[in-house]
Amino acid sequence: MYDYENRVTRLRWSLQERRLDGLLVTEPRNIRYLTGFTGGEAWVAVTPHSVCLATDSRYFEQVEREAPQVELVKLRGNYRESLLKFLAGIEGERIGFEAEHVTVRTFQNMLQKIGSKTWEPTEGLILGLRAVKDAEELKAIGEAIRVAEDAFKAAIPQVRPGKTTEKELAWWLEKEMRERGAEKLAFDTIVGVGPNGAMAHAIPGDTVVAPGVPVVIDMGAQVKGYCSDFTRTVCWGRPEDPDRFWEVYNTVLRAQQNAIVNLKAGVNGKEGDRFARSIIEEAGYGEAFGHSLGHGVGLQVHELPLLSAWAEDSVLKPNMVVTVEPGIYLKGWGGVRIEDMVVVTDAGVDVMTSLPKENPIL
Ligand code: ZN
Ligand code: ZN
Repeated sequence: MYDYENRVTRLRWSLQERRLDGLLVTEPRNIRYLTGFTGGEAWVAVTPHSVCLATDSRYFEQVEREAPQVELVKLRGNYRESLLKFLAGIEGERIGFEAEHVTVRTFQNMLQKIGSKTWEPTEGLILGLRAVKDAEELKAIGEAIRVAEDAFKAAIPQVRPGKTTEKELAWWLEKEMRERGAEKLAFDTIVGVGPNGAMAHAIPGDTVVAPGVPVVIDMGAQVKGYCSDFTRTVCWGRPEDPDRFWEVYNTVLRAQQNAIVNLKAGVNGKEGDRFARSIIEEAGYGEAFGHSLGHGVGLQVHELPLLSAWAEDSVLKPNMVVTVEPGIYLKGWGGVRIEDMVVVTDAGVDVMTSLPKENPIL
């Protein structure tokens, strides 16, 4: 059971710092984080003395089961009218709302209609809280990793080089994850064979898994709401272009290992990214590493913090979970990416992913 009370308390502190009387929460993952309610549509008002969740009859029973601690406000009859009544009834005057999630239409048609309140746009208030994981969350993420790793181990031996397509392999990975307890995929599985792997987010197609070329597999499961995310690059048989293959593979691996040994609490996103990027640049592949080094993972597969050249203000704290995923992508040849999930500690990071990566040859 997650400690919802503690989460709400931490949110109240940050509301106080911003001199807000309350926060209207509408983003579903944020609602889940604060209350446990997993339904799609609800309006949650967090004020100093209460947490009220307003929703319609589709969800009444679900709220009672999943979030018995919240005050349920039942929206009945004319949805808009009863919602306006709920919004007007929120305790306090200066109320924050989630600027990343409330649409212009909702803002104009709903919030602005309530003249008795000042609506303040906020950004990342709950995402900031979500970045630091508690023990239960780390456990769920660990399970999501195991499920995906076991699926990888089960599906890979089924591949017949020269026969199996990217799409087939992606489906087998999905099936194995679901059969092992994944509620769903954390994101669409990426399988990129040879040149297709040069696209960091390759969509699995009809290309056959050929022997001797790098194959990028990026996958993750969702368990108890929490995501996993890892990448392995493998090659069936001897690489057909061994010099290039080993140079690229070993550069990415060294870059990844250098980041893993140097990341720790206090490091900012830009510094973290440098640990890997500097090695790839020195090897002459700087231009071929177009994306950031990593991202937080939790209820969503991409969340805070960021390990990126542009994220100096994103500072690692103990119990944040981030990916470390350098890559080199060469148009016409292919790509190599190696991605692990790590949990940040004061002294360094603990690697959560356990799949081997030293030898990519199958
Ligand atoms: Zn990934
Ligand atoms: Zn990732």
